[in-house]
Amino acid sequence: MLDIESHPTTSVSTETPPDKINLLGLSREKMEAFCIAQGEKPFRAQQLLKWIHHNGVADFDAMTNISKNLRAQLKECAEVRPPEVVSEQTSKDGTRKWAIKIPGGGLVETVLIPDGERGTLCVSSQVGCSLDCTFCSTGKQGFQRDLTASEIIGQVWLAIKSYDAFPSNNKKIVTNVVMMGMGEPLLNFDNVVDAMNIMLDDFGYGISKRRVTLSTSGVVPALDRLGDISQVSLAISLHAPNDELRNQLVPINRRYPIADLLAACRRYWEKQSDTHRVTTVEYILLAGVNDSTEHARELVHLLKDFPCKINLIPFNPFPSSGYERPSKNAVSRFWQILSDSHIVSTIRSTRGDDIDAACGQLVGLVEDRTKRSQRHRAKSSQVQALEITG
Ligand code: SAH
Ligand code: SF4
Repeated sequence: MLDIESHPTTSVSTETPPDKINLLGLSREKMEAFCIAQGEKPFRAQQLLKWIHHNGVADFDAMTNISKNLRAQLKECAEVRPPEVVSEQTSKDGTRKWAIKIPGGGLVETVLIPDGERGTLCVSSQVGCSLDCTFCSTGKQGFQRDLTASEIIGQVWLAIKSYDAFPSNNKKIVTNVVMMGMGEPLLNFDNVVDAMNIMLDDFGYGISKRRVTLSTSGVVPALDRLGDISQVSLAISLHAPNDELRNQLVPINRRYPIADLLAACRRYWEKQSDTHRVTTVEYILLAGVNDSTEHARELVHLLKDFPCKINLIPFNPFPSSGYERPSKNAVSRFWQILSDSHIVSTIRSTRGDDIDAACGQLVGLVEDRTKRSQRHRAKSSQVQALEITG
């Protein structure tokens, strides 16, 4: 059974949790509640948010419009603690990747993809993932823990810090955020929503709701909840044109099949005020698995009346994945069939190859802890045993 309804939201860390509250992850609402609890007026929340997210200030002493008494009080009970970066690498195409050490064990990665005026930050939401999609190296790690809201928004903070491009400097390095790093964001709902609210907030990063995208493999009930409270853009990881194949590639499909997922996307957009926005459908192309002309035609049939644009993602290989990236010809043939049927589709270009910054490769070389892999290992050792005894 898939562990998709709930899992511990608390850290599995054996370290003593810090007793100071990390203000980095407080949405405006929570920052106001914090200020009131300190005996302060709610407007202090705006000042704190601006210091942290507009100016990139983590030291209370530098917050000069806050009284010395209050600064002292804040130092007692709070902190602004960004995540700990263990490495920063920049690709020759400008893509930059940070590896972040997560207290309690594990690493997550964040990737910035600059493209002219645009800078897209790919943010992680969990250490590992419980959903075990067969082509995903994060899935192979199994689930370790949810990131806190501070650890999620902290990825935006540190990316901007590394370019010294906080809004107060009139530079803009992160124009778009995609929740497409490690983990399934809808399984870490509250922390992801808090972090996305800070991305959208004018006292936070002031990014337009169209430029913050949540990608999900299809946790339908959580998607319905999201539609009630958020207006961010939506991407779904479809990867197959029918349930039979999707059941194999994206196991959560066995619980929430394609028709249910597409219906949930429609409901999501029905709740939004601007009706012209559409779902981005991600479709990874795996050689000989889901990339034939028949698959393309089946996809056209499936999506012909579904408001969407398709993003084709040639598979990014990692060791022992068992899959291969299709040839350029196979990718363009697939794209052509969609295009001939007037379905808007793009092919995702691979960026940051030299620093392993592509989708599904993040923290790629880790131990494979999934049941699938254990079964596979057990099977191969049986085969080996047979070979030896036979
Ligand atoms: N859990 C969410 C978001 C993180 S994965 C989701 O599944 O949507 C972000 C995207 O990267 C998804 O579309 C996922 O299917 C894709 N991906 C995972 N592994 C990949 C790989 N090896 N090559 C290319 N894309 C991959
Ligand atoms: Fe999890 Fe997304 Fe990877 Fe699937 S593709 S295992 S949902 S991170």
